[in-house]
Amino acid sequence: DEDISLLSGEFEDGFDNAPQEALPVLAIIGRPNVGKSTLVNRILGRREAVVEDKPGVTRDRVSYPAEWAGRDFTLVDTGGWEADVLGIDARVAEQAELAIQLADAILFVVDATVGATATDEQVVRLIRKSKKPVVLCANKVDSQRQELEASELWGLGLGEPYPVSALHGRGTGDLLEAAMKILPEKSEHGVARPTGPRRIALVGRPNVGKSSLLNKVAREQRVVVDEFAGTTRDPVDELIELKGRQWIFVDTAGIRRRVHQTKGADFYASLRTRAAIEKSEVAVVLLDASTTLTEQDQRVVSQVIDSGRAVVIAFNKWDLMDEDRRPFLEREIEKDLKQMTWAPRVNVSARTGWHVEKLVPALERALESWDTRIPTGRLNSFLGELVAANPHPVRSGKQPRILFATQASTRPPRFVIFATGFIEAGYRRFIERRLREEFGFEGSPIELSVRVRE
Ligand code: GDP
Ligand code: GDP
Repeated sequence: DEDISLLSGEFEDGFDNAPQEALPVLAIIGRPNVGKSTLVNRILGRREAVVEDKPGVTRDRVSYPAEWAGRDFTLVDTGGWEADVLGIDARVAEQAELAIQLADAILFVVDATVGATATDEQVVRLIRKSKKPVVLCANKVDSQRQELEASELWGLGLGEPYPVSALHGRGTGDLLEAAMKILPEKSEHGVARPTGPRRIALVGRPNVGKSSLLNKVAREQRVVVDEFAGTTRDPVDELIELKGRQWIFVDTAGIRRRVHQTKGADFYASLRTRAAIEKSEVAVVLLDASTTLTEQDQRVVSQVIDSGRAVVIAFNKWDLMDEDRRPFLEREIEKDLKQMTWAPRVNVSARTGWHVEKLVPALERALESWDTRIPTGRLNSFLGELVAANPHPVRSGKQPRILFATQASTRPPRFVIFATGFIEAGYRRFIERRLREEFGFEGSPIELSVRVRE
């Protein structure tokens, strides 16, 4: 699949050549049999795109590159997921919820010959709650005679129902035109890897060596002064070229302006750290290798963990490291950094410049992981085998079954697992560990959530 290249581990060069904005995502939602697949085929203009919708069979592709009136976008079709014995309503709501999460705009399909059902109403509530833009498609209006039926769908409160026959193509032009109007130019959810300079936050407690490292990096490399096209950059950020690639170091003004240890300095340091992390894509957590990790270090680590950003750990002041301390440091790392075992580690000396050049490859690795998307088909074949070989333990005679999983987003990768019951923490950790073994994710947190179908 198109995304597998991201997993190969090799870093593509020419990363920041042609701008490659994430395409906006239009999600098609609606009950089974309202005509979603038919409409998808109509929009894509090709028949073979959609896999036959067999009960119990999961479609391995849910998103398609699409184009309408010269605009490129991603079309997400959530239909066709596993049909099982559970209530159809719950299933539709689940699918709708996920699709809404993934979407920049929604195309809601209702069967006009049936009219709005209770399930449709339920989905409308979800759409409203999301506050995302929506276009209402009244499908199966094969003739003008049936348009009256379509107009009854005004009652859903989603605005004008567009009468359409997905089967014959009737009205699809107007529908798509309306959809293009509500689809934002830029995606909040698109999967494309952003191009241009990536944003780095250099974080760590006072005196750990942030300004020294920044100076080292900036002195040895060229500080780029001119504005980079298409990027917003605060005056407090610095654009620095490292190894032929530009990076934005965010919030560096605070680092350069030395903060003295005064009352409240701690509080402000922590606020500044938070702000910098928020603006960044990847955080370099700077720690002092020559001394024991402090509570303040721990706080920075927690802040970074909570942010969901990609992470590189840099142990600074390595020039002061004496070999006797080495085993102690390893033990401290095991104990104090166990939340970040997946983060790449570099040992550096900001004073001498030793190993500073190792920072960039580690940052690239972490960001690549952060951007990774595992195609649904691949994810499920992996999970299927894993679960078959290592089933969830039986508790009080019950054993939850994992039905299906999907990656809901990237940056960081978030996975949603649908299961028939509560999945215990130990088993979740097991899945996460195996996901990492299989797909890497070095330098990126991954999130795993479970939806239980009652
Ligand atoms: P999905 O489950 O929502 O993806 O629905 P499908 O696209 O599989 O369509 C369900 C059934 O409705 C199929 O038999 C389609 O041929 C039929 N259908 C879809 N669109 C139309 C339409 O515009 N008019 C009519 N008459 N039938 C349609
Ligand atoms: P910041 O508060 O995190 O920005 O830390 P600074 O960069 O101001 O560094 C605090 C002190 O540690 C200064 O005296 C630096 O010279 C010293 N320092 C920073 N990096 C290193 C290093 O790699 N080795 C040694 N020996 N000292 C360092």
